[in-house]
Amino acid sequence: MTNKYKYFVANWKMFGETKNIKSISRVIELSKLRKFSKAKIVYCPPYTLLYEFVKKLKKTKIEVGAQDCHEANTNGPFTGSINSKMIKNLGCKYVIIGHSENRISGDTNELINKKIKISLSNNLKILFCLGENFKEKKNNKTKRILASQINKGLKNIKNIENVIISYEPVWSIGSGIVPKHNELKNNILFIKKILNKKSKLKNIKVLYGGSVNPKNVKDLSKIPQIDGFLIGGASQNINKFIDIIKKTFN
Ligand code: PEP
Repeated sequence: MTNKYKYFVANWKMFGETKNIKSISRVIELSKLRKFSKAKIVYCPPYTLLYEFVKKLKKTKIEVGAQDCHEANTNGPFTGSINSKMIKNLGCKYVIIGHSENRISGDTNELINKKIKISLSNNLKILFCLGENFKEKKNNKTKRILASQINKGLKNIKNIENVIISYEPVWSIGSGIVPKHNELKNNILFIKKILNKKSKLKNIKVLYGGSVNPKNVKDLSKIPQIDGFLIGGASQNINKFIDIIKKTFN
């Protein structure tokens, strides 16, 4: 049982249709129970469902975020993109930036920095994803990569109060493999140490993401430095997502 707030960010990636929204009612009911009052649930569905989610979750404690945004602050000729102002206007509170699936398709640390700055200026909270890939881990470069992603991604950003880090080793995403307890704890502590140097804020949140499921969440929750989870695959299954929340607080 934990007394700290814990985040449960559901990243639906490119999955989900309007018919799937009905099942969210069960998560809404769960969020009303006292036992789960410290659960901060954030749904990040694909752009096509954002408005429906905002409507459905309006009078609840559950919040909504987008999975990415364009770095421009104005409208413009960017086919297929939406910017953080549009996301904010829709009623979203969060945006995921720097997800490894987007880094792989071209998001550099510099572009991520622009996206973060613009999104903060539009009063969105940032779910800033970072993590090493398998080759970097094998070559003992994890800490160097994490430091570089943080320093470049948050370059010239003084106020990081609205930035939540999600540490997601790339080799763990969707693979069913989670880092060993000690390795995870050390990396989370390392991230917190860098952030503490950058900012006087004491309470910077660091989530873990990568193959979180109902079977491993209890163990992962034993690492007190983890402030919650970003959940991809398992969040798209309503039973698994509910189980993850329940097991964290049991
Ligand atoms: C993710 O989408 O960031 C993620 C962690 O996915 P999964 O839980 O499926 O590994």
